[in-house]
Amino acid sequence: MKISLIVPCYNEQEALPLFFDEVTKVMKSLSCDYEILFINDGSKDNTLNLLKDFAKCDNHITYISFARNFGKEAAMYAGFCNVSGDYVTVIDADMQHPPSLIPKMLSILQNKEYDSVAARRNTREGEPRLRSLFAKLFYKIINKISDADVVGGATDFRLMKRKMVDAIVAMSEYNRFSKGIFGWIGFKTYWLPYENIERIAGQTKWNFWNLFKYSIDGIVNFSQMPLSIASLLGVSITGISFLFVAFIIIRKLIWGDPVTGWASTMSVLLFIGGMILLCLGIIGQYIAKIYLEVKNRPHYIISESNNDKVIKIK
Ligand code: UDP
Ligand code: MG
Repeated sequence: MKISLIVPCYNEQEALPLFFDEVTKVMKSLSCDYEILFINDGSKDNTLNLLKDFAKCDNHITYISFARNFGKEAAMYAGFCNVSGDYVTVIDADMQHPPSLIPKMLSILQNKEYDSVAARRNTREGEPRLRSLFAKLFYKIINKISDADVVGGATDFRLMKRKMVDAIVAMSEYNRFSKGIFGWIGFKTYWLPYENIERIAGQTKWNFWNLFKYSIDGIVNFSQMPLSIASLLGVSITGISFLFVAFIIIRKLIWGDPVTGWASTMSVLLFIGGMILLCLGIIGQYIAKIYLEVKNRPHYIISESNNDKVIKIK
């Protein structure tokens, strides 16, 4: 039996040494075979050199270095494509995903009828209020309008059986939203609550605007509902305007047609104009996704690795 850890790293030079020590301690205590695959996602600091040092002194370590920053989603995909363990997990390098949870996760998978164990933050403490509020709203919306079961507070830190990893690799879409992908492929997940922990060193790469864009991505990737809403809006506005035209004609026949009503005309015009632009925007979001998807570009490009067998471009 073998466990694989996938560690996406982007400018993690401060956190990596601590993470490496801690995770090695935990994995050694498990007394089973393991591998740790670090993905250097185009870091601009000393991350790559640190990874090379780790690999030199420990043969459980593999590193992959991307040609540029492709984002955490691409890094995770590269990880899933290149690990061979029977159990696989993604784990952040900043210690926000405590490695000490791994033995517990493993024993749950081995003793109970589950296919994955996912760590779930039970508090959002330490996070700005507004951010929590929007996060909650996002989970509510996406669960209403998509097939993917996206659980609030869920992290990418989950130990999965091989069959689940194969399913994730098979989902080769370019626009990746992992929370949705994990939910969409199904399988039985055990939710393991844990206390939210501040990152140990360095800085988060997410700001509010990034998170907002990410949430729109999540919705567009896993739901066609916005398109239906746009069509529904179109149909109802058309219906209302028919009634309105009938009303105007009848009014003209009965009372004649003095030139008044500039204000009402303008408001209707502006309202409809706004609606049209909104709907075009929604359609545009989907077209943009289709555009990226049909170009069929690789998810990631590897510039170097200590293992020649890794898939260099995928
Ligand atoms: N990360 C990455 N590529 C990126 C951004 C982040 O590989 O473009 C990695 C990062 O090094 C960390 C993990 O993804 O190991 C989570 O990132 P971060 O801690 O910034 O996110 P947060 O925990 O705040 O959600
Ligand atoms: Mg973090």
